[in-house]
Amino acid sequence: MEMRIGHGYDLHRLEISKENDAILMIGGFGVHCGLQAIAHSDGDALMHAVTDALLSAIGEPDIGTLFPDNDPKNENRDSGEFLIEAMDRVNVGGWAICNVDITVVCDQPKIGSLREQICENLRRYIVAPVNIKGKTHEGTDRCGAIEVHVVALLQRGNKHE
Ligand SMILES: [Zn+2]
Repeated sequence: MEMRIGHGYDLHRLEISKENDAILMIGGFGVHCGLQAIAHSDGDALMHAVTDALLSAIGEPDIGTLFPDNDPKNENRDSGEFLIEAMDRVNVGGWAICNVDITVVCDQPKIGSLREQICENLRRYIVAPVNIKGKTHEGTDRCGAIEVHVVALLQRGNKHE
């Protein structure tokens, strides 16, 4: 049995939205909290960090290499598509995900109340236990940002076993 661990990290600055219908994407779940991420794609830091953790575990190029932010194709793009690409590479490589552990650091919105919806959405892409915990920036100068840390453990059996 071969095992790999991958770490993913992402940060996006948040700004107070002038539009009433603005949403902040967290793990593919749209949150109406008056904030929006400053980003080229849909700014879903959680999706980006999970995608990078998986790609990193299996030794594939990172999200910024596969989907450059200067490519017009990636503008406002649904970050679920990045995760689907990572999952395709996981499957092609014969890997199975053991678990994914996620820490979201932001002051608003409160992650605790969103945990279930985010996990449920991630289960559309990942068939493995996913854990999410929320932390705040504790009043430091990173308050205007959302940060996500992810570790993912993967395994694959030896074909000749
Ligand atoms: Zn990102």
